[in-house]
Amino acid sequence: MRVYNFSAGPSAMPESVLKRAADEMLDCSGSGMSVLEMSHRSKAFSAIIEDAEALLRELMGIPDNYKVLFLQGGGSTQFAMIPLNLMKKKKIDICVTGQWAKKACQEAQRYGEVHIVGDSSDKKYSYIPKLDPTTFDSQADYFYICQNNTIYGTRYSRLPQTGSVPLVADLSSCICSEPVDVTKYGLIFAGAQKNLGPAGLTIVIIRQDLISEPMPFTPTMLQYKIHADNGSMYNTPPTYSIYICKLILEWLRDEIGGLEAMKQINMRKCGMFYDYLDSSDMFRATVQGEDRSMMNIPFVTGDQELDAKFISEAAAAGFVNLKGHRTVGGMRASLYNAMTIEGVEKLIGFMKAFEAANAAK
Ligand SMILES: *Cc1c(COP(=O)(O)O)cnc(C)c1O
Repeated sequence: MRVYNFSAGPSAMPESVLKRAADEMLDCSGSGMSVLEMSHRSKAFSAIIEDAEALLRELMGIPDNYKVLFLQGGGSTQFAMIPLNLMKKKKIDICVTGQWAKKACQEAQRYGEVHIVGDSSDKKYSYIPKLDPTTFDSQADYFYICQNNTIYGTRYSRLPQTGSVPLVADLSSCICSEPVDVTKYGLIFAGAQKNLGPAGLTIVIIRQDLISEPMPFTPTMLQYKIHADNGSMYNTPPTYSIYICKLILEWLRDEIGGLEAMKQINMRKCGMFYDYLDSSDMFRATVQGEDRSMMNIPFVTGDQELDAKFISEAAAAGFVNLKGHRTVGGMRASLYNAMTIEGVEKLIGFMKAFEAANAAK
């Protein structure tokens, strides 16, 4: 029996994608072999990576003056790769909205001056700071944000207005959950394992004019230019992860109907869940208002023992990976693209029953 998997990442995948991958495990598209066995230089694999890029471009509306790179090293490698390649005047603006932004901040500090324009650590990153554009540095190399904060369940409902300074954004936990205007960004990156596929693949969407000579000591593998010039084939790319990503993008286009349709489904899922949390006498969301994430929803009962009881009874009933991040505690439900409306309805039903059975007498 498959469970309802609310993991923050790696996370649930569409069942039809897993079935298709299983069907093609021994023989992919008449090649007589598994994608796992293919040369990355083969015709069959070239078709897969080209399709993946074309699908992503179509779904996200990525203009021709942006490159799409299929890399490795996870989101975390981008924390170094971005400053190494984009810091020219060696100063950037950053807004620190959680652990991932903080890690990006600390990594950038190794290479230049980092100006923190906003920081929500005072309230455990439970909100997105209101930013004042007059405090932004118009000479900064770029302005960095983490658009959806996986651990704390916040997201930007509006992008900062950075003028001619390129906006660089970590979309690891929200990419393809809704349409975005790619032209508003200089660089978007995302580890695939939350919304786009298996671990091991990192997608970078970068405006071409930002691809230039990196800092002189930059390792070859950390140079955007090398990967762009070689069509993400400078070395062996994560072939199987790219193949699964392609299947997920096909699912998004053909079964869901694109990113606007995906957004409607995601809004329905998180809307139902927040509505329930807001009406519950036992559970409450830790984030309020417009900063609430559509993908990751932390919640608590206010009683650690009750939280633990809930997590263990939920797991026994087939609702797994609901434990909150170790630094936040409580619970977190990640409602990524592959989580179905039915899965969310069932979880709410379970929570109502738990609430009734454990209500203070
Ligand atoms: C998961 C995550 C990361 C880290 O990704 P890795 O692939 O594990 O390095 C970075 N940023 C955000 C927003 C994430 O959710």
